Amino acid sequence: MNSIHLTEVQLQALADSTDATTRLEMDHISTCMACRIKFENYQLINSTIHELPIASFDPDLTDYIVDMLMPKKAPIHWAALLSASLGGLLVVVAAVIFGKQFIALFIQLPDILRYFFALLPLSLISIQTILSLIRYRQKMNTIIKKTDSLQPKLDW
Ligand SMILES: [Zn+2]
Repeated sequence: MNSIHLTEVQLQALADSTDATTRLEMDHISTCMACRIKFENYQLINSTIHELPIASFDPDLTDYIVDMLMPKKAPIHWAALLSASLGGLLVVVAAVIFGKQFIALFIQLPDILRYFFALLPLSLISIQTILSLIRYRQKMNTIIKKTDSLQPKLDW
């Protein structure tokens, strides 16, 4: 009997191979408890690895990633669109009926109030524009972050 224990590399090679085991090494394993336990552990690890399901990519993976990257189409808010149209129509009808009186009333207003009524819608439009620009920027940042996290990490 060979009294020198087998190395880890030898034991792993033996556990990996199906028929290339040398008789000398197998003799040692059959008589040495310490090497047999290690050998059986390696065999168990190998068989467990072979029993694992084969890793596969979901065929829809690219579609899934593209879906994540593409911003969703904004839904049309029909109720808001309808009420805005009706409101606009109401303003036009009111302007046709009361236009002259409204202008006469507007001219009578002091200058400071006329500026206020002119600046109010302008400032509202400006604020809305700035807010939508901020929202657009945030959406773009989210998309850029998602794209970055999909890049393979390279450690040079
Ligand atoms: Zn041994």
